[in-house]
Amino acid sequence: MTCVFCKIAAGDIPSHKVAETDRVLAFLDVKPLATGHVLVVPKRHAERVADMPPEDAHAVMDVAQRVLRRLSGALGAEGATVAWNDGRAAGQEVQHAHLHVVPRREGDGFGPVHALFTKRPETSAPQLQEIAAKLRG
Ligand code: AMP
Repeated sequence: MTCVFCKIAAGDIPSHKVAETDRVLAFLDVKPLATGHVLVVPKRHAERVADMPPEDAHAVMDVAQRVLRRLSGALGAEGATVAWNDGRAAGQEVQHAHLHVVPRREGDGFGPVHALFTKRPETSAPQLQEIAAKLRG
């Protein structure tokens, strides 16, 4: 087994565990973007979000919701950025799907996820219609 998050899920690499269920482990990110940055991972290996069985995806979200409540209750977080880096193109470095839960505070200066996208495409209403139709399949 070479996957670092599989090793953490198996207890072969130590982690600062925050929550655990039969399907999911949540632990502190070792290089936090903000104090209390948590990673929520399915125990069963899946590289990408779309690779997870729905039961694991649902279980990850359930645990993320619990973590969000704890971040505001125990650490006084005022908000959170909740994000998947899904795929290398999106900056995913560990190839085992994981949901970042990053606590936020008013005035922390980091902005929304929208701040990542500095060159936004101009999209007309007909183009939006066409894209939505493609996505509906
Ligand atoms: P990503 O770029 O979305 O793949 O993020 C991977 C995250 O995993 C980074 O924020 C790393 O700091 C974190 N990370 C890598 N190895 C460990 C580890 N052993 N324990 C906790 N977090 C880790």
